[in-house]
Amino acid sequence: MGHSRSPAMQNAALAAAGLAGWRYQLLPVAPPLLREVVAALPGAGFAGANVTLPHKLEALALATDPTARAAAIGAANTLVFDGEGVYADNTDAPALIASLPFPVAGATALVLGAGGSARGAVWALADAGAADILVWNRTPDRARELCDELGGRPTPVATPADVLVNCTAAGLDGASPFDVLPLTPDRLDRYRCVVDFVYGPHESLLLAQARARNVDTVDGLDLLVKQGALSFERFTSIAPDLDVMRAAIGSYRPS
Ligand code: NDP
Repeated sequence: MGHSRSPAMQNAALAAAGLAGWRYQLLPVAPPLLREVVAALPGAGFAGANVTLPHKLEALALATDPTARAAAIGAANTLVFDGEGVYADNTDAPALIASLPFPVAGATALVLGAGGSARGAVWALADAGAADILVWNRTPDRARELCDELGGRPTPVATPADVLVNCTAAGLDGASPFDVLPLTPDRLDRYRCVVDFVYGPHESLLLAQARARNVDTVDGLDLLVKQGALSFERFTSIAPDLDVMRAAIGSYRPS
């Protein structure tokens, strides 16, 4: 959480929107204290909060007014205090759909991973009308459980699809994603678009290899900005300037 880019991104958007009295700040909270802290925030002048791991499940549990989307995914990342209760939404899922370069309806997808972000991705793709969603995970049982609950079909191999979505943490430890995922660079042209939830200071190897093959790419920072923008709208009822948000997180831009 200490490395979060959200304060820079959200505060830049607040300034650009002319919301001078608003401020977005980091608030480290130990998991057992989340309920108590959230109960105190409205009285302290907070309009809402983003929550990140490990709080996303508990945030949903304490909401009095969760969206159907957050309830289905089983996780919330956005809380809004409306004077009566706690509204909760999951903006990670619509951020994925908004980031794709073509409509999802009728498209096929391969999702890698079965953790929290994969749950959001599978739900979002199914909700947007994807024709077929296959889910691969290092631990196959988790892919099966996810599909039983949210839709999609588990697969032991990487199949061709319109959209490939990497929702695994593979590569974060410095290993090549091609060593741990069922992918090889020369077969990335079997996808029209490759999305990588992982983000860092540089373009991921997965996206660089896809882009080298003229495949459209969506990086984790795009998703971060889009989910942040949707949360911003929930907090302020104003659509933020996406370029301002992207610039504020100091992201790379591949040439
Ligand atoms: P979870 O911990 O819930 O899930 C992790 C997933 O990664 C599991 O499917 C796990 O498989 C898999 N995994 C972990 N290490 C490896 C490995 N070495 N090889 C293969 N698979 C591996 O994490 P999240 O779903 O919350 O996040 C996943 C990634 O997405 C993280 O990098 C996170 O930072 C990023 N993220 C980005 C967002 C954005 O806005 N850009 C938003 C949310 C997340 P298994 O089940 O076998 O353990």
